[in-house]
Amino acid sequence: MPDTADVLIIGGGVHGASLAFHLAQRGVKVIVLEKSFVAAGATGRSSGLVRMHYDTEIASRLAWVSFQYFRNWKEKVGGECGFTRTGFLQIVDPGMEPALRANVAMQQRIGIPTFLVTADDVKRLAPTFATDDFAVAAYEPESGYAMPSDTAGSLMAAARRYGARLVQGCTVTAIYVAGGKVTGVGTDQGDFAAPVVVNAAGAWARQINDLAGVEIPLDTWRHDTMFVVRPPEIGPSHPTVIDFANDMYFRPEGELTLVGLEDGNPLGDSPETEAGHALPGFVERAIERICRRIPAMERGRLQSAHGGYDGITPDQHPVLGAAGPEGFYLDCGHSGTGFKTAPAIGLCMAELIVDGAAQTVDIRPYAPGRFAAGQTVKGNYHNIWR
Ligand SMILES: Cc1cc2nc3c(=O)[nH]c(=O)nc-3n(C[C@H](O)[C@H](O)[C@H](O)COP(=O)(O)OP(=O)(O)OC[C@H]3O[C@@H](n4cnc5c(N)ncnc54)[C@H](O)[C@@H]3O)c2cc1C
Repeated sequence: MPDTADVLIIGGGVHGASLAFHLAQRGVKVIVLEKSFVAAGATGRSSGLVRMHYDTEIASRLAWVSFQYFRNWKEKVGGECGFTRTGFLQIVDPGMEPALRANVAMQQRIGIPTFLVTADDVKRLAPTFATDDFAVAAYEPESGYAMPSDTAGSLMAAARRYGARLVQGCTVTAIYVAGGKVTGVGTDQGDFAAPVVVNAAGAWARQINDLAGVEIPLDTWRHDTMFVVRPPEIGPSHPTVIDFANDMYFRPEGELTLVGLEDGNPLGDSPETEAGHALPGFVERAIERICRRIPAMERGRLQSAHGGYDGITPDQHPVLGAAGPEGFYLDCGHSGTGFKTAPAIGLCMAELIVDGAAQTVDIRPYAPGRFAAGQTVKGNYHNIWR
């Protein structure tokens, strides 16, 4: 007899863990099947930025609902997510200023604490930043970053307290379908039966879709990051920043600054590719960029650099909803930006699975059928990595 559940979740990253938490909280019997260990994929490599500045209302809403979790983690989930408030700045080229203004207005309408600041204001917030290449920026005083492995780990621990089961070291190798309906999965630890199976397999999601005969445009996206030791003159901290003018983001962590680049992230590699070290040339490019924004970083020291893999879709928005055989759901394609939205997406997916529709945020624009229907999601910023 196979193990049985109401819902099987494939993948123990932050999305599998969040969905398991929200389903188990509602009394659903959940089993999470994870081929390695919790947060072994993109989640464990994530930079953990937590901000609400997006160029679509759906993404800002999901980030805002999620933010209520990050800042009240102990009460809402339990354990630690490591949320650290640093303030967040979104810097753009002057040519993108109208889009920036429109996004801030949209976020203010939702109730997000955000406003426009001048380059002089930025200089006061972060005196070592170069501020001569932009006029205004968006500022979120409440935002910052969290610790992705702690976030996924505490979501999973909470799910287990509500009765969910986690099976680690368990690779899903087959999806079973009978009469057009999902009946369970096959794994290297035997079969598991359930009427609902969710693909939360991150960069491996396309392989899982193949097992279910589901065709959705999903690729892999590699992203490298580095940590540098700040020279003392930059001070004990600085805001978290997305710097479109330099195709870069950065945030503090103790005496370190984490830097990631928005360009040069290869698509289509196998997610099994070694990523313990950054690709050749990354560190040089990242150092040059961070020194443009913080010239004093020239006196910094490289601490470490590594990479990670996420799943990415053509419009760089996630794929959420039912697809293929009845009972098969997708919670994947998070496109390099899915950490901060995971608490809300898990909640919405639980509502979709249990109630038939998400109430907290309308996630229908992220439906899997949008690519075939030519209804991809478009934001105010054009052709940028989010
Ligand atoms: C370097 C980097 C930096 C990032 N920075 C940010 C950021 O600052 N802010 C932000 O919001 N987002 C960021 N992201 C994106 C974010 O981290 C991801 O969108 C998010 O972690 C995806 O979570 P997930 O659970 O979908 O996938 P994953 O964490 O990859 O989890 C998928 C899991 O599925 C398992 N799995 C795969 N195949 C199988 C199988 N056959 N059977 C069983 N299990 C399987 C894997 O082992 C893995 O643990 C970043 C991503 C990377 C790579």
